Amino acid sequence: MHPSSTSRRRFLATASALAFATVAARARATAATPLVVHTHTSDATAWHVNSLIVESRDALLIVDAQLHARDAVEVARRARALGKPVAAVLVTHPHKDHFGGLAALRRRLGGVPVLANATTRRVLELDTLARATALGTEADLGWLPEAALVPGDTIDLGDTHVVVDEFVDHEAHRLVALYAPATGDLLAGDLIYAGSHAWLGEGRTAGWIDALLAAQHRWPGVARVHAGHGATRDGDPIAIQMDYLVATRHAVGMAMGADGRVDAAGIARIAATLERQFPHLGLGQLVPGNVRAVARELAAGG
Ligand SMILES: [Zn+2]
Repeated sequence: MHPSSTSRRRFLATASALAFATVAARARATAATPLVVHTHTSDATAWHVNSLIVESRDALLIVDAQLHARDAVEVARRARALGKPVAAVLVTHPHKDHFGGLAALRRRLGGVPVLANATTRRVLELDTLARATALGTEADLGWLPEAALVPGDTIDLGDTHVVVDEFVDHEAHRLVALYAPATGDLLAGDLIYAGSHAWLGEGRTAGWIDALLAAQHRWPGVARVHAGHGATRDGDPIAIQMDYLVATRHAVGMAMGADGRVDAAGIARIAATLERQFPHLGLGQLVPGNVRAVARELAAGG
């Protein structure tokens, strides 16, 4: 499906159209009708990463492009089946599980433009160049728009719109989240892992808790959260994610030896503790790396 130039123009993010205070005030008056979001979730080999297809009356916006090409192909198939132009693919942050399938996705969608913040844009440029160098082919950078997304940009979906927000130094260095003021939907990227252990490998759990508090403050009208990983679940995913981070920090702090390390028995105890507090969490394979990263963070005073 080739997006028309008209729909492309409608999707262009316009810089600083709305002040956060105004948007937050609007967010309190959330409508009952949810944003229409179709979710494709990978298997555990890509950590149950989600691509979200946001469907408005006239067009589609795809959020995140998967790790494996096979999943990206399935996202493209589902988007085409909806029979509406895909105006853009937005990559929330520069982790490979969110852009590894980008080339495969764009090939099947007729070369849709890519939206990203400055950090992600830089990584996509470097990755494309690295791939081009390795393969001896010409780099294709023309698909990245000149302007990087910044907080306050709006993406016009025709009969509704989403507002760009950005959160720093948590699961990723800089991550774009989207909020739909008219419906209260928060497309949270990897601020939220639903139903699984989160990846804490960058050792920024303190910053992550701050980011979640900021999200609650900026978007008090959140009615639904669409997570970067796993299925959206009942309850308050922001609060659950915060509880998970606090519990992990506490458990690691209790298990750390004088040298700031946690031994294998300690890791097993932490895994059991988290399983008791948060039953049926998937991606248990993340726990050992998480414990080591959080131990480093705590030892450094984080
Ligand atoms: Zn991810």
